Amino acid sequence: MSEEVTHLEAKLAAAERNGSGATQKADLLNDLAWSLRVADTNRALNLAREAYRLSSKESYEIGIAYALRTEGFCSYLSSSFETAMARSNEALRLFEKLGGLTGQASALNTIGNVYFRLSDYPSALEVHFKSAKISEDIDDRRGLAYALNNIGNVYFGLSDYGNALASYTRSLMLSEELCDKASLPSLLNNIGNVYQKLEDSPNAINSYRRSLEASAGIADRASESAALSNLGFVHGSLGDFDSALDCYFKSLAVSAELSDHYVESTTLAQIGILYTKNGRAGKALVYLRRALSLAEEIGSKEWVYESHRALADAYEMTHDLAGALKHQKLFNQVKEEVFNSETENRVKELVVKFEVEKAEREAEIYRLKNVELASAYQDLQVLNAALQEANEQKSLLVEQLQHKTEELERKTFEDSLTGLSNRRYLDIRLPLEFERAKRFGHALTVAIGDLDFFKQVNDSFSHQTGDATLKAIAGIFKKNCRAIDIVARYGGEEFVLVLIETPLSKGTALCDRIRNSVARYDWNKVHPRLAVTVSFGVASNLRLGTAEKLLAAADAKLYEAKQSGRNQVRW
Ligand code: GH3
Ligand code: MG
Ligand code: MG
Repeated sequence: MSEEVTHLEAKLAAAERNGSGATQKADLLNDLAWSLRVADTNRALNLAREAYRLSSKESYEIGIAYALRTEGFCSYLSSSFETAMARSNEALRLFEKLGGLTGQASALNTIGNVYFRLSDYPSALEVHFKSAKISEDIDDRRGLAYALNNIGNVYFGLSDYGNALASYTRSLMLSEELCDKASLPSLLNNIGNVYQKLEDSPNAINSYRRSLEASAGIADRASESAALSNLGFVHGSLGDFDSALDCYFKSLAVSAELSDHYVESTTLAQIGILYTKNGRAGKALVYLRRALSLAEEIGSKEWVYESHRALADAYEMTHDLAGALKHQKLFNQVKEEVFNSETENRVKELVVKFEVEKAEREAEIYRLKNVELASAYQDLQVLNAALQEANEQKSLLVEQLQHKTEELERKTFEDSLTGLSNRRYLDIRLPLEFERAKRFGHALTVAIGDLDFFKQVNDSFSHQTGDATLKAIAGIFKKNCRAIDIVARYGGEEFVLVLIETPLSKGTALCDRIRNSVARYDWNKVHPRLAVTVSFGVASNLRLGTAEKLLAAADAKLYEAKQSGRNQVRW
């Protein structure tokens, strides 16, 4: 039993236990009935009737519609074509009233199938075209696959095998796309029938065998009996009498069990035809009479006239020429009823109408796609604008980030009080400049300047005065140096000058200029009684080997300057 059925049964049992509402139960009964329609037609029929009863009590119209739809389909499967037609039409009218398109397509499928079985091909075609159109409109691909299979059947009945194969193939492609296993057995049977008509026995047998396998998997016994009957026919046409009979009798057993009188009558007729072909006309007559009466009972004109033709042949073989003539006349008469010129014209009309409508539908789809495309294009433009804006914002952010980074870098190497380079910067640059000068044989002079008795400035005046003094000193240092020189605050009141490409003489001259500027500076601007001087130690001997040693030499000279009375430059 399929997963879906098990699941629905569990839900139904739960609904019973919980005392759920009648409409909810009706829905579940309807779903279960539809799932079981092929595997257990009788049970499905009873469930649908129960759903109908519950829905009627509640005037639950959609429940009634689905129950009738299922009852119609099950009646069709049991060859009760009159009931099938009545229930399906009732269901169709209700679905139309309620606007249920899927339901309409489903009811139409059954109605079309009944017309087909009654050999009214134009009506069958019209109804199946309608169903296909609805399914296409609501993009119900499963429904469309059913409709196409049915359309193929009608083309087949009309002996239009090219169109039949085209419809079946489209249906098969859709069903495979949807992984719809339930559709495969009957589709494969139908495709086999086309091969049979094209006298391609290997492909016909292959299709029927595949149908048998597919039907075994899902307990589709109706398709099983049809496939067996069809296999019997191919074996018979290949002259394998025993295999043919074997298949036919197996098929008969199943179709009788299912009360599938349509397949039963076709199989009985085929058995009769096979016996005739093998010279056993007496036996043939028995089967053919049974086939005829069943076909008449269910109203299948196709099998009524096929039986008459076969009976005519069998009577002829038994030399009962009167009997033969009688059945030949009946064959002509019934066949004429089915295939008259009116039939032909109606079919042609229908096909043309359907093709025109299809073209219109495709044009509409094309138009809608264009509208969709235009709106998608608009969306794209809006998106583009947003993207551009985002890009601009991003550039702005990147720029801001760059500024921030630069500022940060600057601050990392800058003394916050004086704005001169800091010791961290000097520690990186001085060794670099030392190596560069050594390598290229350029001069480099390093000077350390230290304010004299600066502690007293803080002590006598204030720390703020001290700070202001340091700032003024920085200004004097900067003013006297070139842009390429490094002017760094080395410690509290100590400054280091790195004078690029500057020999000792020029370096000491510069330091003396600075010393002079400091001493002469109008310190009253900072504090009325303030006087500031600076001492310098200078070194430029690159042979000392490292920047560190050069700096230490300058420091030693600074010590000397201090010792010698301050406010002087020593080297
Ligand atoms: P010398 O001539 O021997 O260099 O005497 P000095 O007083 O300058 O030397 P010392 O090293 O004894 O004192 C340095 C002083 O500089 C100590 C501290 O009060 C002052 N100082 C260092 N950094 C700062 C600063 O950032 N701001 C201020 N206002 N004073 C500072
Ligand atoms: Mg000092
Ligand atoms: Mg000092």
